Amino acid sequence: MYTIVDMSEGERRDADRKERVIHTRVAEDLDEEIKRRAQSLGVSVSNLVRNILQNAIGLVEDIVADGAEAVQAARRAGTSPPTASDPRLLGWQSAVLAVNAVCERCNGLLPRGTRAAIALLSSPAPPRFRCERCVEEEPTDHGPQAPHD
Ligand SMILES: [Zn+2]
Repeated sequence: MYTIVDMSEGERRDADRKERVIHTRVAEDLDEEIKRRAQSLGVSVSNLVRNILQNAIGLVEDIVADGAEAVQAARRAGTSPPTASDPRLLGWQSAVLAVNAVCERCNGLLPRGTRAAIALLSSPAPPRFRCERCVEEEPTDHGPQAPHD
């Protein structure tokens, strides 16, 4: 067993967004796998774990390490990032990623340079990514739906 400590970036506390430190025990091989993936993606273990957790719980923001900085830069500049209340999912665009991302459905890592799907939305919103397999299995937001008449 192994304990990960200091999962938040304590020195970077925004007043409007409190961060807590979560301590958790993980098996040693999981710890090594997390470190290996973080290194291959060029992100910190803390960032990787946070992104996976946010994605698993459905807080789909700051999934992309590169995107997170853009969002924070926008906040600093006083302009709010696009937050359309309910953008409709129009489809999935296959692309070669220029950033590291995480599949929103299966949490699979999507490293920069690999092919993945990016959501096309009806209004501006934070980017959403899926691996191509998840798009094939479930192209909609809410599972297979009955066709309209
Ligand atoms: Zn997936």
